[in-house]
Amino acid sequence: MAASVEGGWRTQELMLDGSWAGTLGTMAALCSTGAFLPQVVRTWRRGGRDLSYGLLGLLLAGAALWLGYGLLVGAAAVVAANAVTFILLALVLFLKWRREGTALPPRGPRPRIAIDMDEVIADTLGHVLEAYNRAFGETLTRESLGGRSLEEVIPAERGAAVAALVLAPGFFRDIPVVAESQRVVRALCARYEVFIASAAMEVPGSFADKFEWLDEHFPSIPPSHRIFCGDKGVLDVDYLIDDSPRHFARFRGTPILFAAPHNRAESRFLRVSSWGELERLLLEPDAPFALRPPAPEVAPTA
Ligand SMILES: [Mg+2]
Repeated sequence: MAASVEGGWRTQELMLDGSWAGTLGTMAALCSTGAFLPQVVRTWRRGGRDLSYGLLGLLLAGAALWLGYGLLVGAAAVVAANAVTFILLALVLFLKWRREGTALPPRGPRPRIAIDMDEVIADTLGHVLEAYNRAFGETLTRESLGGRSLEEVIPAERGAAVAALVLAPGFFRDIPVVAESQRVVRALCARYEVFIASAAMEVPGSFADKFEWLDEHFPSIPPSHRIFCGDKGVLDVDYLIDDSPRHFARFRGTPILFAAPHNRAESRFLRVSSWGELERLLLEPDAPFALRPPAPEVAPTA
C-alpha cells in the first residue's frame, strides 16, 4: 500500500498513465484491498469467531495511518486504497461485533464425539445399588446382578420404591464419576469436538442435577456441548459412546458400546470396557482399534 511520492496528487499511480509502475501499483492496491471482501462475506455468514479484536484494531489503525499519510503527501493511490481498506475493515469489525454470538459456528475440522452420561461417565448403577442396599438392608453388587437389571433381581413389590429413589430430587447430583473418565475426556477435548449426550428425557427431573454434576466433574464441556435428549439418532457426530445399544439404532456415525452388565450379550458393535481402552482406541494413532485419525487443525483464515 506504500507509494513513493514527490508532492502533489500522484494520480498517475492509478494506471492513468499506462506505465508499468502505475499498473503494478494499481494491481497491488486492488489485491491488498480486495483481499478483505471475502472476509466481509465470511464474517457475515459465520460471525468472525476466528478473528481477534486486536488484529482487526491494529489493521484498522494501520489503514487509518496510511490514509492520513496519503492525504498529507497527496498520494491518490495510497488514499484510495486505504480508504476502501478502512471501510471494509470497519465493516468486518462491525459484523464481528454484531454477529459473533448469533451466526452458526463452522463445522470444525475435528471429528465429533458424543458421550453418554449414565454408566459411561457416571456410575449410576453403583449409586442405585448403594441407595437400594441402604434402604432395604441388602448387599447387592454389580457382580451379583449377573448381567440382569436391578428390576429383574429384586422382589416385585419393591419396584415402586426403587423408582422413587431414582426420581428423588438430588439423586443424579451425587453420582460417582467413572474411573479415568475425567482425564481421558480432557485429553479427547484437545483432538475432538466432544459433546455429552444424555437421554435425560427419561427422567426430566434430572436436568438440573445433571447440569450441576457436569459443572463440577466435567467443566471442560461447555453448556453448548451438553445435550439432554430423547432419541440419540438425531446426533450429527462421528462417534457415539454409549452403554445402551438401542441408541445406535438410528445413529449414522460409528457406535462404540461401553461395556455394562446389561449389555454383555450384545455383539453387534465395537465394545470397550474402560476409559483406558477408549484412550488407546481414540488417542493413540497406532492402536489396534484406531479409527479415523483426527484431522490436523487448520490455521484460521485472515
Ligand atoms: Mg447410559
